[in-house]
Amino acid sequence: MVARGPAGGGRRGTGGAQTGNPGALPDGAGARGITRRLFLNGSLKATLAASLASRLSLGALLGGQAGGVKPATAARRYDGELIEESYDIAHRLRDGTLVIPSSLVPEGPLHDAIVLGGGVSGLMAAWELERGGLSDVVLYEKEDYIGGNARKGHANGTDYTCATWSVVRPKDPFLLKLFQDLGIVQGIAADGTPRIDPLLVGPGPDNNVLVDGTWYRGPMYGADPAEAIQRMPLSERDRKDEIEFYRDMNGWADKRGRDGRPAFAMPVEEGSRDPGILELDRITMLEYARRKGWGAYTLSEVDDWSTSDIGGQASEVSAYAFLSFNSLGQGGEDITLPGGNAWLAGRLTDKVGADRTRTELMAVRVENRGEEVRVTLVDARTGRFSARRARCAVIACPKHITGRMVPELAAAGREAYLGYRYGALLMGAASVRRTPRLKGAPPAWFNSADGRLIQGFLIADYNSDRWRKGDPDRPNVLCLWAPLGGRATRADLLVEPWSHWADLMADDLESMVPGISADLTRLDVYVWGHHMVIPAPGFLTGDARRGLTRPLGRITFAHSDRNGMPSFELATRAGYDAAREALAIVRGLPKSS
Ligand SMILES: Cc1cc2nc3c(=O)[nH]c(=O)nc-3n(C[C@H](O)[C@H](O)[C@H](O)COP(=O)(O)OP(=O)(O)OC[C@H]3O[C@@H](n4cnc5c(N)ncnc54)[C@H](O)[C@@H]3O)c2cc1C
Repeated sequence: MVARGPAGGGRRGTGGAQTGNPGALPDGAGARGITRRLFLNGSLKATLAASLASRLSLGALLGGQAGGVKPATAARRYDGELIEESYDIAHRLRDGTLVIPSSLVPEGPLHDAIVLGGGVSGLMAAWELERGGLSDVVLYEKEDYIGGNARKGHANGTDYTCATWSVVRPKDPFLLKLFQDLGIVQGIAADGTPRIDPLLVGPGPDNNVLVDGTWYRGPMYGADPAEAIQRMPLSERDRKDEIEFYRDMNGWADKRGRDGRPAFAMPVEEGSRDPGILELDRITMLEYARRKGWGAYTLSEVDDWSTSDIGGQASEVSAYAFLSFNSLGQGGEDITLPGGNAWLAGRLTDKVGADRTRTELMAVRVENRGEEVRVTLVDARTGRFSARRARCAVIACPKHITGRMVPELAAAGREAYLGYRYGALLMGAASVRRTPRLKGAPPAWFNSADGRLIQGFLIADYNSDRWRKGDPDRPNVLCLWAPLGGRATRADLLVEPWSHWADLMADDLESMVPGISADLTRLDVYVWGHHMVIPAPGFLTGDARRGLTRPLGRITFAHSDRNGMPSFELATRAGYDAAREALAIVRGLPKSS
């Protein structure tokens, strides 16, 4: 599991640091942000209560000074910048203000296939197209790097992740085969368990939780959560709820429907069709938690897992999505390296061949033209438009962009992309002169706490020689995890400068690790404006998503949002399936549904 949710744990997520009153959560974003902070300390509580009374905006609250926490603006001795994906052209495309030339003469040869989007889904698609026998495959990516949100940076002698963290042990044949092909699985043990390359498995400890100013080891994956939870200074009621919640998550991993199929699978289409289980896609996770009778503390934890793992608040995401994501996220230690999943993107790029990838070229139009697909690209540096053509195209870009690139979707009545909603997230990369020492426990990979903006921090050099050698004073990078869900809006991302976010993050960090501000030398803030598609009730088991993503002429659709939830498994599976569909089209075989 993860640092994330101990028992269930997708790859991201947090443990039970909540000290808020999530009874207020469902009523809206602002309510959630406020309640989480109310419990940080008494003076903050007073500040926020006063702010609430005077109906200040959430943005104002976030910008306000937390009682007891040093105002970072006065004390800022670090540098940094806001690092965003390029969105100017995408916004003009969305708004209909991008003038796309219609009579461009295609350049270059008729390719076998064009892949659009260089995240892990696009990389997987390109590789599968090549394995399927297409020799001329080319991949276009709008940014100046390949990997999408499997992206890393480097500082203080360590790689650090700018977004993704890790992958879990394979539980289905697709992922097992992929991990074998990528050299991650090195064999199968006598009991049938895949043997993971030991260098890729984190050394632990995975997860700390901050409660009342002291860090506690979080419940460990696979073990009974009771032991860890008993050690935390919680009320009897909260303890009972927490144990029940973790056990409930654990329990879903092994459940089967009345049809004998696993309750959940990835993609969801391969899970049980038992109406009793599908019914969970009609209610939100908040409703599920309330029916269980869990109190405020655990409701807050559920909400943290929700924003952290699947991008939306518990009041937005379906119970089916939450339970399947977290129960399938189980699997033992995480497979990770410093830099998050960037190393996986690197291995996939090696399979594809770096010479087949082209960066800083954004696709703005994709059209079927008889026996070929015509793609219009714009050079992100010069603004020059050009056209390319291929026998098929796989689009591995998020659907809110894809929908605007493919005019035929509207003509075919496949406009479900307009209803796709995505979460937004910030990841801070805080360079510190010394790895922090924590009160109560040694640092873990993820240290989960309730800040005004951040939900905790990863220590970047986890699973490295530096970590294992254990020099406690080594310089490091702390990756500050900040899903916005309810704490700020996407619109805030467009207007607030680096200093706004950096100050909030630095203040949060100081409240979690008192004194650390003196060691902070740089704080870069990575912005992920549409980072995870939010699986609201009905999204996963309904027809709209499948209808949108079936092949259209010679165009097929990948990206993790094809499968409705954000994970490496689902991204690569989407790329694979879209590539198989494209191969069938090129070969003139009946298309898979
Ligand atoms: C902050 C964060 C943390 C995450 N952590 C994990 C984790 O720990 N484990 C896990 O399994 N999953 C994690 N995920 C989920 C992650 O999204 C998937 O695992 C996977 O990396 C998604 O790959 P993708 O190819 O579907 O999408 P993306 O990574 O979004 O790739 C899409 C690519 O398409 C490009 N693009 C978009 N439009 C165009 C265009 N018009 N023309 C050309 N290129 C275009 C984009 O620039 C991007 O590179 C995380 C996601 C985020 C955002």
